[in-house]
Amino acid sequence: MTKKLGLQTICTHVGEVKDEQFKGAVSPIYMSTSYQFEDVDVKRYPRYFNTPNQEFLSKKIAALEHAEAGMIFGSGMAAISTVLLAFLKTGDHIVVQNTLYGGTSNFIREEFPKYGIEFSFTDGYEVSDFEDKIQEHTKVIYIETPSNPLLTITDIKGVAALAKEKGLLSIIDNTFASPVNQNPIDFGIDIVLHSATKYLGGHSDILAGAVACSNEHMKIIWNVAKNLGGSLSDFMVWMLERSIKTLVLRVKAQNRNAKKLAKFLNSHSDIKNVYYPGLKSHPQYALAKSQMKGFGGMLSFELNDELDALSFQKALKLIKPSMSLAGVESTMLSPYKTSHGLLSQEERDRIGVTNGLIRFSVGIETKDDLIEDIEQAIKAVKKQAKVEA
Ligand code: PLP
Repeated sequence: MTKKLGLQTICTHVGEVKDEQFKGAVSPIYMSTSYQFEDVDVKRYPRYFNTPNQEFLSKKIAALEHAEAGMIFGSGMAAISTVLLAFLKTGDHIVVQNTLYGGTSNFIREEFPKYGIEFSFTDGYEVSDFEDKIQEHTKVIYIETPSNPLLTITDIKGVAALAKEKGLLSIIDNTFASPVNQNPIDFGIDIVLHSATKYLGGHSDILAGAVACSNEHMKIIWNVAKNLGGSLSDFMVWMLERSIKTLVLRVKAQNRNAKKLAKFLNSHSDIKNVYYPGLKSHPQYALAKSQMKGFGGMLSFELNDELDALSFQKALKLIKPSMSLAGVESTMLSPYKTSHGLLSQEERDRIGVTNGLIRFSVGIETKDDLIEDIEQAIKAVKKQAKVEA
């Protein structure tokens, strides 16, 4: 039935917990950690990911990602680590995209050796780069597109087909796109992951993760998830359900603003590089267009060499120099100090995360106010550079 509903209707209505007692318009919150065990269909417990709020929000996630099943986690990393540990064991090997969220890359590098799980990071993000790293004992291919922070685009259909051909599981981190802009299951990907802290939450006040996949894969994930215990409290589940009601409106506004801001930055004489898949000059614009419904609210850029990225961010008055992303408010950060701070300088150099790179999470503010803020911050940092020269 949900397949026939429009995206905005799914966001608003699918996965509501019906208030049978008082007939309220929104889902009641079931905070109970203790449920009856006899004469019930389901034995419910928050760490089993099956309280009423958890169960129903999972349906919304599944519907949004065109999947059979969904699951909500306590953080994006809880979802990512649980899923990877559910499908990998000692002696297995995973091929991982080289440009991806620093925390995921750090998890793989630090934890997998303890379990004897082998991994190879690709040299690039072409399908052939993934194929090059496949070994006899490879079980999983893991991608992230658009990637954090350089907005590189991986060919979802191509990677999914490669995985199918080789009998491997394909997993994607779909956080940057959100289900509004990209539905990887339609292109043959097996498992979709989200840091729901980002667009699904959208207001910079919820830490959560989400997974969408087939019932068969979800059974395997659930068996590990209940042991690792990374579930989300029902209050936060309720908050997330409430936030997703406006997901489409928020993300579409962010898509529009980001495209305008990317064009503005791209034509600015004090900006050296702009990375945004919605710019025709982006080397993978055509690929992005073929697999994304919108180009997203994330972009990155570099100021000209003589202008200091940190001083520029300090000079901003409206845009917050702040961690995380995808809130309704615009934020900027230096990935080398934050999301990719745990990587070595050598590793950052290898994937192109320079100290001058600024990641821009575009919010829903009035576009002209954002442009004015950037202009005044550039002026301030230029003045400072002149004084120091
Ligand atoms: N994936 C991406 C693309 C991210 O940007 C992040 C966090 O920034 C994560 C996963 C991890 O999510 P969380 O911080 O919710 O654990």
